[in-house]
Amino acid sequence: MINSILSPKWREFHSSLASMLNLTLAVVTPEGVTAFYNAPPLFDKLDRYPQLFTAYKDFLLKIPLPGEETGNGQVVYDPLGIPVFVCDFFNGEFFLLLVGGLDKGNPQCHQDFQAYLESYGVGEHEEFSAKFGAITVDELVSKSGSVKALYLNLLRSLNESKELGERMLLLTAVEEINKLMLQLFSSEYFDLQRILELVASSLIILSDADGSWVFTHSRTVSPLTVLRGQRSDCLQELEKSWSAAVNRREDPLGSVNELITQKKGEPGIKLENIFFSSKRESRISLGVLNPRDKSVQAVLVAFIKQVAIALEVADLYEVLQRQIGMVLNSIRHGVIVFNADRKTMMVNQAAAKIIAAQGIILQPGQPLEGQGLSRDLETAIISVLKNGDAHIQRQTVLEQEGNLLHLRWDAVPLLSDKIIMGAMLIFEDITETVNQISRMEDWERLATVGEVAAGLAHEIRNPLATAGAAIQLFARMDDEDKRRELISKINLELERINKILGDFLNISKARQMPALQPICLAQVIQELKFLIISEVHLKNLKLVCSDLAEPDDSPMVLGDRNGLKQVILNIVKNAVEACPAGGRLEMSLHRDTGHAWITVKDNGPGISRETLSKVLRPFFTTKNTGTGLGLSISASIMKRMGGELRIESEPGSGTSVHIILPLAPEN
Ligand code: ADP
Ligand code: MG
Repeated sequence: MINSILSPKWREFHSSLASMLNLTLAVVTPEGVTAFYNAPPLFDKLDRYPQLFTAYKDFLLKIPLPGEETGNGQVVYDPLGIPVFVCDFFNGEFFLLLVGGLDKGNPQCHQDFQAYLESYGVGEHEEFSAKFGAITVDELVSKSGSVKALYLNLLRSLNESKELGERMLLLTAVEEINKLMLQLFSSEYFDLQRILELVASSLIILSDADGSWVFTHSRTVSPLTVLRGQRSDCLQELEKSWSAAVNRREDPLGSVNELITQKKGEPGIKLENIFFSSKRESRISLGVLNPRDKSVQAVLVAFIKQVAIALEVADLYEVLQRQIGMVLNSIRHGVIVFNADRKTMMVNQAAAKIIAAQGIILQPGQPLEGQGLSRDLETAIISVLKNGDAHIQRQTVLEQEGNLLHLRWDAVPLLSDKIIMGAMLIFEDITETVNQISRMEDWERLATVGEVAAGLAHEIRNPLATAGAAIQLFARMDDEDKRRELISKINLELERINKILGDFLNISKARQMPALQPICLAQVIQELKFLIISEVHLKNLKLVCSDLAEPDDSPMVLGDRNGLKQVILNIVKNAVEACPAGGRLEMSLHRDTGHAWITVKDNGPGISRETLSKVLRPFFTTKNTGTGLGLSISASIMKRMGGELRIESEPGSGTSVHIILPLAPEN
């Protein structure tokens, strides 16, 4: 039995099957390993690492011990911790091992793998791990199930009596290959080439032919040729005449027909072939050389039907892909689609372009992890695939060699009947906007600083004058007690100046991203008092502070002290500017269950409804010398602190601006 499994024709079949399933197949007999198919380089290189070689030898020898617990039908782990599925055939006559890759979704696997490699004295880690396709243990088990069914059915059919056996073999193979095709279609890319190869390989076995071939052709796609088996002279001629006909834009089937008729006359060669033409211009020719008997014709008919299905599906798939691609590529946003196995299924042009700037190139069919996307993007997509939740309007920074790319993104599930089929990442490059906002904030900060400086000079003049007078008095004074009194007065005035300067410097300092901390609103107002009073008095306004509780029982909010100060000054400045002929400015403190706010109310002309809708826009101003930045920056600072700026105004009855922040947790 084992010999029939290892004959050259079966070998073709095994390699096709292995490559189609992205697995390594190993046949192990009680004497040891008999054959590898689709062997990854790991196994080729074993002899370079004696320790690893011995470990594998022990492992493989341990498997086919008759009567012992061999792990048959189960997943076991090889010396490197790679999942292996063991199927035994004919009571331990031989075993088939299906070897998967590493489960890349599980970072622990990788760590373990590195550790195993080191323990066997292997240094070139990358070389090894890079060779493994990602496959989860569940995938391995499900693929193993269909492989086992396929083999058992084929082997059983081979054992039947000749006549009946062939018919059964045919039916079984057709059925099983159909299943495999469906499985491939649902889990990975639909790969027509691989399916055709499998079909051709199985043909060799089933018809016992000298050579078999499959040609496909469509008007848009260049001819795809699949050849297998011996009789290479005949097959080459067939291929040549097929491509020549395609190049001449003739019907290739005609010329192949001719060739076959010619060859049919030659002694010892007999050709059978069948053509199929799909609705979508695809043509296919499937054939065998020198078939053993008439039943081959029946095999061909059955196979061509399978191939026809594959072709139709491939055509439809292509049309669908093209249409989806057209839609996605016309979108300005980057779109990346992942399937439920976290593999990249689709990347639109905008996405490819945006992330290529950061050196990231997403390969379709590759797992999400390890392609260079940031950790938070990966985590979000994994959570979307797991829980079906959507992540909306998030921001991420990708960095490469100091280059920052700011992305705003949504990650949403692709649902079909509430089942999560995949995830879609939609993003846009907001680097320019982010840079612009930070530039604007700088301008506005400088403008505020400049304007505040005028008020500052005024405010410092008073204590300076007092201190100056005290110093003059001091020079003339003899009385020690009086002198001490004057010194303490000078000290007090200097302290006041120091404090005003301190506040000023605080505001003019460049702001980092704010570290939010509990702050006392009343105290912040206290700290700004000199600056506010200087603004207000300069313009002949009356300042009324109501409900400004003592710092002790005033509400604590979460925010950034300097950011908040800048906002308050901006609002006060606007209020002052709204009352050029003098007026009344009222500041008050309020709180509810979750928030506390400062209200700045003026009795200026108010804001019309139309203007009100625009005041938050950067650069919107109604003043000759305005920057139009105060409110927009203030709003963005408030938003960053988790707060809000609310403006209420009626033309004719003044304006109230509420500076709202969330209460600190201990409130
Ligand atoms: P700027 O003060 O440089 O004009 P802002 O962003 O601070 O820029 O304000 C934008 C506009 O909003 C002002 O030009 C003004 O028309 C309007 N505005 C803001 N505050 C008031 C207020 N208290 N009373 C009336 N109008 C106001
Ligand atoms: Mg302003």
